[in-house]
Amino acid sequence: MDSALKKWVNESDNLVFFGGAGVSCESGIPDFRSTDGLYHQTWNHSPEEILSHHFFWENTEEFYRFYRAKMLYPDAQPNAAHRMLAHLEAQGKLRVVITQNIDGLHQAAGSRNVLELHGSVHRNHCTKCGKPYGLETILSGDGVPYCTCGGVIKPDVVLYEESLDQQVLTKAMRAIAQADVLIVGGTSLNVYPAAGLLRYFGGRALVVINKTPTPADKGATLVLQGEIGKILGDA
Ligand code: ZN
Repeated sequence: MDSALKKWVNESDNLVFFGGAGVSCESGIPDFRSTDGLYHQTWNHSPEEILSHHFFWENTEEFYRFYRAKMLYPDAQPNAAHRMLAHLEAQGKLRVVITQNIDGLHQAAGSRNVLELHGSVHRNHCTKCGKPYGLETILSGDGVPYCTCGGVIKPDVVLYEESLDQQVLTKAMRAIAQADVLIVGGTSLNVYPAAGLLRYFGGRALVVINKTPTPADKGATLVLQGEIGKILGDA
């Protein structure tokens, strides 16, 4: 672990971690917003358009084509950052992981107290009868997945135009407000509600870890630029 960060981690038993897409990058999951040269040859719409509430209902088949190709990484494994955060929680130092990711890798690494602001690909439900389905149901077929009742199955992932789960958001605000040290990692803080949530922090140290500068750098106690797995280190 970075030595300046280690000092804060050693002194605190009330760490909270807030993370974004960069945390899963080192597990081979790219940020879905990143589009390469081939993107427009394969897709006729922007990621934000395809992952929106209206698009899901108006073009369900195309939604699932994109979703399976760009959002699901069933073979991805937790990396050093996930493992260190799980380790710190097991040690009683880290209280909560708040994540914008939907891949479930924090839980796969052993974290228990995880607040998933944007939901999870591992949870899906029938839009007609509410029956829950796992990720296997989505992975096992092509086209639109249907419930045994005939209803369309929808991922429990917050789409554009949809609101966040208020309970999860409230818990995240509370955790940040009560934190002694807040570590923000792998997020450029441009995505709602990330930037707003940081305003609730009143603890001793704000640590920002990211590959590129973020709007929070100016108010941070410590800014560490680089790969988060290397900076946090392995457990
Ligand atoms: Zn159903």
